[in-house]
Amino acid sequence: MKKSKLLLGDEALALAACDAGVKAFYGYPGTPSTEIFEAGEKYIEKTNDGRVAEWAANEKVAYEFALGTSYAGFRTVVTMKHVGLNVAFDAFVNSAITGVQGGLVVAVADDPSMHSSQNEQDTRVLADFAHIPLLEPATPQEVYDFTIQAFELSERLKLPVVLRLVTRLAHSRGEVYTAEKRLAPTSVGIPSEEEKNNWVLIPAIARGRYRDLRDKLPNIIDAAAKYNSFSANGRLKEGVLMAGMGIAYFEQYLSDNDIDPKKYNQLKIGAYPVDVQLLKDFVEKCDTIYVFEEDYPYLEDMIIPYAEGKCKVHGRRDGILAIDGELNLSTVRTVLAGKKVEGKVDDDLLAQISDLIEIRPPKLCDGCGHSDAYEAITKALKNIGVDDPRIFGDIGCYTLGVQPPFNAINTCVEMGASLSMAFGAAMAGMSPAVGVIGDSTFFHSGMPTLLSAAKSNLNLNLIIMDNAIVGMTGQQVPVAADIAPTLAKATGFEEDQVHVFIPLPKKTNENIEKLEKIFKEDKPSLIVFKRKCIQAMRRKLYTKPEKAEV
Ligand code: SF4
Repeated sequence: MKKSKLLLGDEALALAACDAGVKAFYGYPGTPSTEIFEAGEKYIEKTNDGRVAEWAANEKVAYEFALGTSYAGFRTVVTMKHVGLNVAFDAFVNSAITGVQGGLVVAVADDPSMHSSQNEQDTRVLADFAHIPLLEPATPQEVYDFTIQAFELSERLKLPVVLRLVTRLAHSRGEVYTAEKRLAPTSVGIPSEEEKNNWVLIPAIARGRYRDLRDKLPNIIDAAAKYNSFSANGRLKEGVLMAGMGIAYFEQYLSDNDIDPKKYNQLKIGAYPVDVQLLKDFVEKCDTIYVFEEDYPYLEDMIIPYAEGKCKVHGRRDGILAIDGELNLSTVRTVLAGKKVEGKVDDDLLAQISDLIEIRPPKLCDGCGHSDAYEAITKALKNIGVDDPRIFGDIGCYTLGVQPPFNAINTCVEMGASLSMAFGAAMAGMSPAVGVIGDSTFFHSGMPTLLSAAKSNLNLNLIIMDNAIVGMTGQQVPVAADIAPTLAKATGFEEDQVHVFIPLPKKTNENIEKLEKIFKEDKPSLIVFKRKCIQAMRRKLYTKPEKAEV
C-alpha cells in the first residue's frame, strides 16, 4: 500500500527529488523557497547515501553548481525565489542552449502579493523567454508527482525544467502519497564523442545549438500538453481558464458550494509552453471566460486575441480582478458571482484574521545589534553636519532600519545594490556616501564593488552588518565568515581604512566618535559591525558562542 505524508509544498518537492534519485541540492535562501533546500538537506542526512546539499554564495553560483552536476550525468535541484532567478538568469538562459545531461530541476517559488519580496515577477515569463519548459502544480501531491516527472522530462528533452511554486503552495500542507521505492543517485554518463562540444557556446557552436533549441519547441509543447486538460461540458457556456493556485481555489469554490463541475467549461494549465490551439478551441466553446492565475495576466494575454469578437474574457485586464496581488478563495468566489473584486482580500476575512492574530508590524528584535549600529551611524552623520542623511541599504533584517526610530536607510533595490549605489553617489559628489549591507548579502553580490572602491579616492563608506548568519530567511550559515577585512586589504584597502566595531549599547559613544572621524576622511573605508544574531544564539546555531558579545 502506498504511504502518505502530510507535507508542505516545498517539502513535497524535496522528498520527490530524493525519491527520484537526486544527487545534489543547491540554492540560496529566499522566502518562500528556502524550505525546499532545508527539507532536502534533512532527507539527505537521513538517507546518508552520498547525496549532497550546499548553499551557494548566490543563485547564479548555485545554478552553475547544478549545471556541473548535471553535466556529470546526475540529477540535481537548484532552488531559489523568483527574484533569485534574475541573479541566475545568464546561466539559466544559456543552459537551454547548451542543454543538460542528468535531469536538472529549477525550483522557483514566486511571491504574488510580495509577502517578502521586492517585486511580483512571474517566472512563467522568464521560462518562456529562455525556451525552458515549466510545470506548475496546484497541490502538494502534484508538486511531488510533477517533480519526479520533471527529472524524466529534463533527461528526455535534454533541457532544464522549471517547477513553479507560489507562496501559498510552497507553504501549504497537504496529504502526499509517495513512491514506494527511493532511487539511488546514478549518473546517466557524460556526452558521446559526437556531442562533446555541445556545451561550448562559442558563436559557431552556439548558433547551431540555438537553432536546435528552436527546432525543439514543438517537442516541448507536446511534452507540456499532457499537463493541460480541457473539459467542455458547460451548459451555460461559462468557461474558466486557470493554473496553479487558481485551480485549487476554483475547485475549493465548487466543493464548498456543492456546485456541479459541469456548470463550467474548464481549461486547466499545468505546464508551459501552452499549445495555442488549445486556447483557440476553448474560446469556441465559451461565451464568457474567467481567468484565474497567479501574478501576471500571462494566460489571459494569450487568450484575449483569440477571444476577440467571440467571447468576453474577465480577469486582471478588464479590472474584475486587481492587476496585482495574489488570488484567494474570496476573489474567485466574487468574480464567479459576476462582481468586481474591490481590494485584494474581503473585509470579512480581514476582520476574522485580526480577531485571531494581533497585527505585528515587522521590526528588529529587541536587543538586535543592527539597532546599535544604526544608532551609531545616524548620530555620527548628524554630528558631522549631515542632518538628513541618505544611506544606501540592502536586503536582510537590517532593511528594517528604514522604519522609525532609526530612519536609517533610503534604498532597498536588489541583493548587493547598496554598495554599488553608494559608489555611484560618491562618484557624483555625495560625501560621505554610505552603503550598508549584511554579511551574507555582501558575499552574495556586494563583494565586486570592493574592487572599484579600493581603487577610488572617494569618501565612500562601505558598512557590513556582520551577524554571521542569514537572519531573515531562518538562520542559514553564510558561505564565508570573518573574511571581509582580509578581502578588503587584499583588494588594496590600507590597514587604516578597515575598521571592526562591536555594536553594543555600552560601545555606542565610542563607535560614534570613531565613525565621525572616518566619515570625514576623504578616502574609502570598510567598516564591519560585528555582532551575532541573538535569535540564532538562542537557537544555539553558532558552534562557538561569543559570550563577551551578549
Ligand atoms: S533575527 Fe537576528 S539579525 Fe534579525 S532582527 Fe532578529 S536579532 Fe536581528
